Amino acid sequence: MNQGIDQHSHGDQVDFRPLHGRRLFQRTVWLCRAHILACVLLNLYVFVLLACLLQDALGNGLTLSSYGFSESPLQWSTLGWVAGLVVLQVVSFQGLMIATLQEDGQITLFPEDESGTRSFGGMRGEQIVSLVHEMADQMGAGKIGKIVILDSPCPNAQTVWLLGDGNIVTLHSNLLEVLSLEGIRSTIAHELAHVRRKDFLSRHLLHLPTRFVPCITFLALLKIGAGLGVMASWPTFIGQSLVIVLLVFLSWLAATWTVKINIRVSQYQEYLADSLE
Ligand SMILES: [Zn+2]
Repeated sequence: MNQGIDQHSHGDQVDFRPLHGRRLFQRTVWLCRAHILACVLLNLYVFVLLACLLQDALGNGLTLSSYGFSESPLQWSTLGWVAGLVVLQVVSFQGLMIATLQEDGQITLFPEDESGTRSFGGMRGEQIVSLVHEMADQMGAGKIGKIVILDSPCPNAQTVWLLGDGNIVTLHSNLLEVLSLEGIRSTIAHELAHVRRKDFLSRHLLHLPTRFVPCITFLALLKIGAGLGVMASWPTFIGQSLVIVLLVFLSWLAATWTVKINIRVSQYQEYLADSLE
């Protein structure tokens, strides 16, 4: 929604340039980017640590002597594990989105119109589809792969991006019933701003880091246990174990902070989508 901000009409389209020049707006843009960068770095730490542990545990043929970070973390094989984990994160996020989209009460309007003779708050399926496409063109939002109505008493809308389908805009039926055409246009504009900003990219970040922490803890404990069998001396063993415990603790912190910072990222993204940036 974009109530409460200065809008300067510019022909058919609303001109947001005066808003975009403001310091508060610029600050929000940079804060959003800085928070995304922080999330990426924290995530990367969790990924690299898990990749190193996996490389040590599995890459060296499960031998006791592979205790400790004997290998450099920057080996190609470790980078391979990192790449594998990134793929796992993306695929599992996509899976979650697909599961959400298979909820009951979904009516596809585009590419195929399954709404039949039904209308939503006085609008027919094809009218909604052409409104979304027309606005996407005006805003330069890019291609909309799918438009869906969700039968829901809660007035809401959301956008996801799926491999294969592309951008999917979901409008809840109640939203179309309770809002005026102007309100519906504002909501669609907000969703299309998310599409244009490619906000889906950062949403992929949140999904797994906290779930990786138990794996990291398990592999670290395994490592310390194995190290007990091959240690050269107690001081070395205790020193190495403390390093591993510290690394695990930091991964726990990094994962927790990723979740917290990501919540801030989505708040900034909501402000920015409201300003149609
Ligand atoms: Zn939003």
